[in-house]
Amino acid sequence: MFELIKKLSNALGVSGYEEDVKEIVKAELENYVDEIKTDSLGNLICVKNGSERMKIMVAAHVDEIGFVVKHIDDKGFIRLTPIGGHFSQIVLGQRVVIYGKSKIYGVIGCKPPHLMKDEERKKAIEISDMFVDVGASSKEEVLKLGIEVGSPAVLDREVVMLANNRITGKAFDNRVGVAVMIEAVKRTESDATVFAVATVQEEVGLKGARTCAYALDPNLAIALDTCPAADFPGSESAHMDIRIGKGAAITVIDAAGRGLITTPKVLKWLRETAEKYNIPYQLEVAEGGTTDASAISLTKQGIPAGVVSVPARYIHSPVEVVDLRDCDSAANLVAKALETYKDYWY
Ligand SMILES: [Zn+2]
Repeated sequence: MFELIKKLSNALGVSGYEEDVKEIVKAELENYVDEIKTDSLGNLICVKNGSERMKIMVAAHVDEIGFVVKHIDDKGFIRLTPIGGHFSQIVLGQRVVIYGKSKIYGVIGCKPPHLMKDEERKKAIEISDMFVDVGASSKEEVLKLGIEVGSPAVLDREVVMLANNRITGKAFDNRVGVAVMIEAVKRTESDATVFAVATVQEEVGLKGARTCAYALDPNLAIALDTCPAADFPGSESAHMDIRIGKGAAITVIDAAGRGLITTPKVLKWLRETAEKYNIPYQLEVAEGGTTDASAISLTKQGIPAGVVSVPARYIHSPVEVVDLRDCDSAANLVAKALETYKDYWY
């Protein structure tokens, strides 16, 4: 799955600007589904026709955290508004790509440390005190590059391989989940009607999944995402069990119950499927963060929903790390769950 993840992760898809990623999903799935359509919010819905009685929605958000241009000053420096949850200390000193007429490269700067007072130097710098330098010397030059208020931007980072089947890149949250969805649709022999949905605007409030679940009205749903691993220095104190390389994560509870509390039947379905097919898995209980499944589960009269995640280190940074074996396990688990639903629902 390395090449697929690489292609998806390197693409730009800030919340609300997911076109490039959706194009990749479309190209990957068009020969495996019966119909592909887009709804008014922008969700890409890939439909594999099957049983009338069982419609299963598989949701993977295609958006990533990023920025949009807020202001361009007379000297050509650009201010950004963050979209989604950023950790400001990771943003400073990075290279960015702003989507103007073409990909425009810039760097994120701030007041240099040697001009700071001692006190200032100890403080974390806010994103609002940073700016982008694209090399331009006036506002006019910036505008000529096709950059204007509202242009999206992401941190510039390409996927590379690390040791031990691990890979690193930006936007693994959630292009890894998108790759899992694509692979699951290709691998499954499900007889259900499957809606594989590339959802939009998850990072800013689970928006796409909410409207899409309402319209599709599935009987069941599985959201695919990444979840934070706690297996590196400093993370042990969180006392969480998730490790990369130990299999797909099945969510029991996220956001300490304010997000999803997976219903026992869904949990049983996903766990027993993993066990039946010897697919490595781990159980996730998280106190922060949630996924599309939370929004879907509260749609209409309530839709039974679960989450299958790929554990990731350093989530919401440009150097997220996942293990390819977990991606494969997650894809197999979803592919099989789309077949085994019968043992639980009909
Ligand atoms: Zn996510």
